Amino acid sequence: MGCLTVAVPREAAAGERRVALVPDGIRELRAAGFAVLVESGAGAAAFFTDDAYAAAGAEIVGAAEVYGRAEIVVTVGRPSGQFHSGQAILGMLSAVGDPPYLRRLAELGVTAVSFEGLPRRLSRAQPMDALTSQANVAGYKSVLVAANAYGGYFPMLVTAAGTVRPARVLVLGAGVAGLQAMATARRLGAVVSAYDIRPESRDEVASVGAVFLDVASPSGAGEGGYARALAGGEEHAERTALAVHLGRHDAVITTALVPGHRPPVLIDEESVKAMVPGSVVVDAACGPLGGNVSVARPDTTLVTDEGVTVIGAGNLAATVPTAASMAYSRNATALLRYLSRDGALAIDLTDEIQAGVVLTHGGRVIHEGVSS
Ligand code: NAD
Repeated sequence: MGCLTVAVPREAAAGERRVALVPDGIRELRAAGFAVLVESGAGAAAFFTDDAYAAAGAEIVGAAEVYGRAEIVVTVGRPSGQFHSGQAILGMLSAVGDPPYLRRLAELGVTAVSFEGLPRRLSRAQPMDALTSQANVAGYKSVLVAANAYGGYFPMLVTAAGTVRPARVLVLGAGVAGLQAMATARRLGAVVSAYDIRPESRDEVASVGAVFLDVASPSGAGEGGYARALAGGEEHAERTALAVHLGRHDAVITTALVPGHRPPVLIDEESVKAMVPGSVVVDAACGPLGGNVSVARPDTTLVTDEGVTVIGAGNLAATVPTAASMAYSRNATALLRYLSRDGALAIDLTDEIQAGVVLTHGGRVIHEGVSS
């Protein structure tokens, strides 16, 4: 039986503190017969040392060797090294909407595997679901960011100096990140409301102890459990219907996304102006394609003249690097094991999971990473 060589580079993106495999993942892969190379310092920003990787059975190497010797390069975001024909890359490649990137990889003879296309509803795919594990981390952190910027307490406090009412938190978007944000805000003692355009999310919102807002807006159920993109008029109607609720909340956290589209704008400048001084808006959907709050910019905090803090949260999972990396590593290890047989990569596009995650192979673009 051969031995498949997996390599972990340092992440390329600025501010990315996660690492694709942690020492526990290396141990599991070694036991399963893989050889593992780790670029020196790859885990440092997530507090995993070269020594810990070496003790788990990895060989610590320089950047050139990672790309030169790897049969599979495993990353969180897009890798940036020199690939060679026959090599595979596995990560969250954000390939939706970027066909030229995939064409380049196909021309290089690289097999690109991306978590975005994983059929997430398939129960045997769930251990590999990096989108869910990372959205959970982001949802958790979004609440800490909001609480940190808020001038008051989240819980109700009864003290000798009087009683403080709990903060009122509104979460828009009740997917994985939104539900985790609701649960986290509840644990901090806030009173939590939520809204999503998928009517079926109502029960999930109730199950984490939040109140579903009655908002007269279009129903937005789309394919595969995701929301559909709203037409311009529908988005405007939802924004207007939500606006009246914003002023009643101390913190608003937005997490609404539509796969393959720009995020819907749920809060415009006028709505922010109408909010109460001291209130906080965290746009966790804020990214290169836009966000849910028109004035938010990625990784930027602004305070309006009216005293409302608006935080464009950007890549929140990267700011909880240890937990996020541990979860991601479990997802990556599960997918690596699934894709290999007898010490070699075993690409089989008739398999439902592989047909979702394999974006390029054998010099061809298989598909463009549409989520399912
Ligand atoms: P996502 O990140 O694509 O979107 C986040 C949320 O934003 C979604 O709930 C979506 O409905 C909502 N949204 C989009 N447009 C909106 C708008 N205009 N107004 C308000 N809300 C809006 O979603 P996700 O977190 O990846 O989850 C998508 C679905 O997949 C959910 O139904 C989730 O429960 C399901 N899911 C299932 C599994 C599983 O079965 N194992 C795993 C992961 C996710």
